[in-house]
Amino acid sequence: LPERKDRLAILEVHFKNKPTAKSVNLEALAAKTAGSSGADLANIANEAAITAARLGHKEITGADLTEAFERVAIGPERKSKVMNEKERKITAYHEAGHAVVGHVLPDSDPVHKITIIPRGHTGGVTWFLPPEDRSYKNIYELKDTLARAMGGRIAEKIIFGEDSVTTSSDLQHVAELSKEMIIREGMGNKTRNLVYPSEATGYYTISTGKPYSEKTAELIDEEIAQFANEAAKRAEAVLKANHKVLDRVAEALLEKETLEEEDLKNIFEGSTLPDSAKLHD
Ligand code: ZN
Repeated sequence: LPERKDRLAILEVHFKNKPTAKSVNLEALAAKTAGSSGADLANIANEAAITAARLGHKEITGADLTEAFERVAIGPERKSKVMNEKERKITAYHEAGHAVVGHVLPDSDPVHKITIIPRGHTGGVTWFLPPEDRSYKNIYELKDTLARAMGGRIAEKIIFGEDSVTTSSDLQHVAELSKEMIIREGMGNKTRNLVYPSEATGYYTISTGKPYSEKTAELIDEEIAQFANEAAKRAEAVLKANHKVLDRVAEALLEKETLEEEDLKNIFEGSTLPDSAKLHD
């Protein structure tokens, strides 16, 4: 995948023959498209031109570019999907939960944007962006990623009650990332420094005909459960210690629907990291 300076070069090629407003900042776009392929970037350029044309703009504006980026990254806005007040409130607290946990935990990427406008298959989105291109992540960073992924569900639990939590793909994400950390990266607590073949590698033990023994399978399951439980506990500790901040984010979302980094500075003020959520000094 192209690095930041290569992404900028690719974007410059694709925007070269497209009328573009002076306010359009391709460097900023290059910065926030870490993980995008050359084809994704070409796609963003085309979507930006289509968006500008649809809205009758003579040149591509910064807003057209943002819309194109989000369309390619997550899917089109579904303004036609009407949420009732209850659903909006649940979505607002769910996204606020992801955002507050991610903001408070020290090894998480910063919050870039939060929205409760449905996009693609999601009801809302909280977007974290790394400040720079990174090739490696350590255990602290990945565990903060797990905790912030739990933040949505835990916020719902705190506000609406244990059995009122709604469906989402967050737990799937937590299970997959935990498994990846444990079997591929040797980051498990009991299985530290050991890696295991996944079903996909075709490498099987002789005794069971499976990628690893039954005993190891049980151990891995236990480790995954521990990672998920630890993430949920840390998310809960953060949200209980920052209940007022959680309320403020949710209320701002209900009012404005979308919050950008600049909007969040004031709202997050006074947030604290409780000792029980700390993994290190
Ligand atoms: Zn979520």
